[in-house]
Amino acid sequence: KELVFSGVQPTGNLHLGNYLGAIKRFVTMQDTHDCIYCVVDMHAITVPQNPKDLTRQIREVTAAFLAAGIDPTRHIVFNQSQVSEHAELAWVFNCVARLGWLNRMTQFKDKAGKDRENASVGLYAYPNLMAADILVYRATHVPVGEDQKQHLELTRDVAQKFNNDWAESIAEQGFGDAFFPLTEPLIQGPATRVMSLRDGSKKMSKSDPSDYSRINLTDDADTIAQKVRKAKTDPEPLPSEVEGLKSRPEAENLVAIYAALTDTTAEDVLRQHGGSQFSGFKAALVDVAVAKLAPIADEMRRLMADPGHIDAVLADGSARARVIACETMNAVKDIVGFVRAR
Ligand code: ATP
Ligand code: MG
Repeated sequence: KELVFSGVQPTGNLHLGNYLGAIKRFVTMQDTHDCIYCVVDMHAITVPQNPKDLTRQIREVTAAFLAAGIDPTRHIVFNQSQVSEHAELAWVFNCVARLGWLNRMTQFKDKAGKDRENASVGLYAYPNLMAADILVYRATHVPVGEDQKQHLELTRDVAQKFNNDWAESIAEQGFGDAFFPLTEPLIQGPATRVMSLRDGSKKMSKSDPSDYSRINLTDDADTIAQKVRKAKTDPEPLPSEVEGLKSRPEAENLVAIYAALTDTTAEDVLRQHGGSQFSGFKAALVDVAVAKLAPIADEMRRLMADPGHIDAVLADGSARARVIACETMNAVKDIVGFVRAR
């Protein structure tokens, strides 16, 4: 049976990349799959977080999920720290994954920066917790942006090594020849890697110090207009074929954003706007961005006015997630050979 899991960190400044690369696609998957969507708050503290801000940001990501159209009654919406099995399974995976595997992770290198000795151990072990997030539900499909591809590969490696290392015990416990599935990443659509509006070689990110690098989900129409107007471009008009976007990363990015916002393709966008100057195309882009994002921002604001309701959604989702996670964790304990109360 196909089961979808994905998560978003409550690290502030939810942006258009998070929406187009992840949240918008979470909404679509609801019609065809059972879905579990998680606010991964334990991942957030791999870098320093102010406690009051963290609490608000957890509610804000939840509000974004709901405002975008995720239905927490038909699917599961919860926050990671309420289901302690994530941390338990992550420990087992710390003992499965090899140092050499984690040493290759580019996100750690990017986020740790030059002062690697001072990075938290949590930041280093992050991919193992992510593997646990997914595999504690034995999820088969994970919609993510392109930047998470390497972590999804590690998740498959962890699953495979667990299945191999404990193959005999897995069979003895009645789970056949594999306990964990080899999860498929779903990295699809025109906006799997939305780039910074200031620099076409960097991904749009919550942590970029320049607010002009990203469109936040909570930006008002004027702010969106100003950021798009100031977005970096080259002096040429838009090409009429996608081949003409090669080596024009800023142009390619704006076209991809337009395509994703309008549920079309880069080809369609260039059929309509090829030959236009950026001034005209940017005005059209502002219109589609505001039309799509303003209702989400309004609904997020409405939801944020009632934190009690958001907390109740998370508590309910966590209780339902825990049932599944607990079943997996009990099986893992039996497979590994831990003694547990019965
Ligand atoms: P941080 O800088 O704190 O890591 P982030 O913007 O990368 O923040 P995450 O919470 O790490 O956000 O990622 C949430 C989801 O959004 C993931 O599926 C990730 O792949 C996706 N995502 C993040 N940035 C982009 C982007 N620029 N384009 C497309 N998808 C993105
Ligand atoms: Mg990230």
